[in-house]
Amino acid sequence: MTEEIKLSVVVSLFTWIQRSRPSAKRSKFRKFLDTFCTPSDYFSAMRLILPSLDRERGTYGLKESVLAICLIDALGMSRDSADALRLINWRKGGANTGANAGNFALVAAEVLQRRQGTVSGGLTIKELNELLNRLASAESRAEKTAILATLINKTNAQEMKWVIMIILKDLKLGISEKSIFQEFHPDAEDLFNVTCDLKLVCEKLRDRTQRHKRQDIEVGKAVRPQLALRVRDPAAAWKKLHGKEVVVECKFDGDRIQIHKNGTDIHYYSRNFLDHSEYQHGMSNIITQNILVDRCILDGEMLVWDSTLNQFAEFGSNQEIAKAEKDGLDSDRQLCYVAFDILYVGDTSVIHQSLKERHELLQKVVKPLKGRLEILVPNGGLNAHRPPGEPCWSCIAHSVNDVERFFKETIENRDEGIVIKDLNSKWEPGDRNGKWLKLKPDYIRAGSDLDVLIIGGYYGSGRRGGEVAQFLVGLADRPDPNAYPRRFISFCRVGTGLTDDDLETVAKKLKPYFRKYEYPKKMQPSFYQVTNHSKERPDVWIESPEKSIILSITSDIRTIRSEVFAAPYSLRFPRIDRVRYDKPWHECLGVQSFVELVHSSNGT
Ligand code: ATP
Repeated sequence: MTEEIKLSVVVSLFTWIQRSRPSAKRSKFRKFLDTFCTPSDYFSAMRLILPSLDRERGTYGLKESVLAICLIDALGMSRDSADALRLINWRKGGANTGANAGNFALVAAEVLQRRQGTVSGGLTIKELNELLNRLASAESRAEKTAILATLINKTNAQEMKWVIMIILKDLKLGISEKSIFQEFHPDAEDLFNVTCDLKLVCEKLRDRTQRHKRQDIEVGKAVRPQLALRVRDPAAAWKKLHGKEVVVECKFDGDRIQIHKNGTDIHYYSRNFLDHSEYQHGMSNIITQNILVDRCILDGEMLVWDSTLNQFAEFGSNQEIAKAEKDGLDSDRQLCYVAFDILYVGDTSVIHQSLKERHELLQKVVKPLKGRLEILVPNGGLNAHRPPGEPCWSCIAHSVNDVERFFKETIENRDEGIVIKDLNSKWEPGDRNGKWLKLKPDYIRAGSDLDVLIIGGYYGSGRRGGEVAQFLVGLADRPDPNAYPRRFISFCRVGTGLTDDDLETVAKKLKPYFRKYEYPKKMQPSFYQVTNHSKERPDVWIESPEKSIILSITSDIRTIRSEVFAAPYSLRFPRIDRVRYDKPWHECLGVQSFVELVHSSNGT
């Protein structure tokens, strides 16, 4: 009975899996496959169970905040009604949503229960997939709203809750993607890793009893990237790769991109196997001219090169520069691809060769073009462009001291960290088993403690739903160095670093002074200076600075120029080091002192 599976059956499966003990979850899924599915149902069902792996339909463009508005309109509710506010403020909780706060689908289910019946709508999964296809291709918010209204009409509240989870691509079933693949077919995960194509996996492995010949990677099909395992320090890295030939490389801070070249047909696949066609304009001519073979797959990082400063630009401008290149705008910044690996050459996959051999291939296949297309190999490639006296980007390490020195230089150079690789290792799709290690300076202290004042709070999600779990902190603005601060300038958002108990204690102490920031009015106390950027609108403000608490924060030593916060710089990866109950509010670090600190550590 092809494609006749009802959504209600899949919903029972989800509920069943969610409630089962971890050890029983897999068998429930297998039972579903064996009892309800014929081979022609596999893809229809698997794309609902693993929505984040489905690339057949594009993205929905519906994160919680937009989805909330669309659902409110689809249900014909007034945007100021209590239920509408519940959806908009899904993280915050409130009178009746306390228990569900932080879980959008549960808050939505509560609202839907008051409006939808309990009788199943009778939708089949085929019909659901068709509606979801339409939702993904709908261009306007009105169209999306209309499709959501149809879905609401054809489901009950329980079914719609799961549809919402599918749209948000997170089912919270407590069963891993690996287990689902294994129950489906013993070769499913491997095949997915080399094709990133769920439909193909479901079609090729229709016969679940028949083993599939191991498939290699192909040009034109995204491959799940090899990943790096995090280590705490150079000594741990050295111990892990003991006795191996090791290369240390700079960890570039851009977008991981695989370039698939097949003649003039070029694709740019991200880690989530999306094809980033926006890189075509800036890069494709260069790829065509400077890659000396007709077919190949490169692995590397897409970055932005600043030709005036002669250095890579800080993270975050790829999209803007890709757009400027498409629009033909002149700029001293340009896209630059750094290839650190090669996976396919001509008509052969080379992932089984050693990294050392692949480095040689990279040098043969890619003709570098400064600031546009670079290769990362020890003693060559990008290193040739390093000004004399500056550390290299990639070199062979002979001892733990070499790793330590390289790491130190990287930090001084304000790069993101280093990647340490076994030169004799193969390239393994989707693997994070320690052939590549990464070392990042996140928990290395900033030169001095930054004592900043909490000025607002953000509600958490999941376990911390309904409670303040992150803070907006500010720097003091003083009329003169000895005066009390007059205002506080928003500086960064921070939530990690403290134990759950310590975080809870701070949140509890401040609770009486939290003032809600109510939608749609955008009010904030006048002694806080913020920008209009939505990311820095906290859910609650501290009523007045005298009531607040100072936090000592540290961060990865880099600062970033800030457009989100009102202070001119913010911190990358900030962490709370400790709570300074001993320090009065007015001793908060001043903006001026902080800017001086940034300039002195930048050497500017
Ligand atoms: P992170 O947030 O640390 O980048 P991640 O989960 O995105 O972690 P990991 O595989 O754990 O990714 O870390 C390796 C990532 O570092 C790669 O995905 C890639 O984007 C980036 N990278 C930058 N430079 C290199 C390099 N020289 N070799 C390998 N990966 C590199």
